[in-house]
Amino acid sequence: MPVLLLESIVLQTFPYSETSKILRLLTRTHGVRSALARGAMRPKSKYGLLEPFAEGLATFHLREGRELQTLSGFELTRSHQALGRNLVRFGGASLLAELVLRTASEESHPALFDALSAGLAHLEAASDEQVEAVALAECWNLVAHLGFAPSLDECLACGRAIGEDEDVRLDHAAGAVLCAKCAPGGTSSPGRPLPAFARATLGRFLRGVAWPAPERTGAHWALLRRFLLHHVVEGSELRSLEFLESALQERSGTGGPDDA
Ligand SMILES: [Zn+2]
Repeated sequence: MPVLLLESIVLQTFPYSETSKILRLLTRTHGVRSALARGAMRPKSKYGLLEPFAEGLATFHLREGRELQTLSGFELTRSHQALGRNLVRFGGASLLAELVLRTASEESHPALFDALSAGLAHLEAASDEQVEAVALAECWNLVAHLGFAPSLDECLACGRAIGEDEDVRLDHAAGAVLCAKCAPGGTSSPGRPLPAFARATLGRFLRGVAWPAPERTGAHWALLRRFLLHHVVEGSELRSLEFLESALQERSGTGGPDDA
């Protein structure tokens, strides 16, 4: 049984027996794996802090074909504990982790690992004013790394390149935009309006760039929700997104993020 040291990020933990934990980990080179950490719930466990978002070097006893691997060590490199400091930060990090879990694969995907690691660090470092835009950008950036990015640069119907100042419609199910000639609007046109400025913002988000942040975020959350439900979780619930949306509502003290 090969023993491997794998760079890992804890996505989820749950108790297993009185003293042990099962972890779902994103590894840099072996995709998402489940591992049993015996004794991790004991007060003086050798594992130290094994909580969601913790990043470190995990010692795996890897048996290919097994669903549950055995962990024998976890050398913490970044705890990301500051993510627990406020609900929006925590909700954003939980959404990133849930997206990776819901699309989990055992294939090596170092770029996805690096995007999640950077995303958690950015959420942790953002100011309270910045954190909402950072959450949107990191989420879309992860969507792009998962291979679901909508195509924004040319019209789905006529193939024409879309100019910088053109308002278009986004067909979220097709994951593509339609120009004003092909989809002039009205009830018979597919998709929803995506003004030029919003298309530019979405394009930046897909590259993980939060700035300049949109003044109004409601339409962006609504778009993200529709897109994730259709492409990533196929209609089932996304609990962390609901948590994040209620945290944003609580923070703003208004009708919440879905003001579009
Ligand atoms: Zn067109």
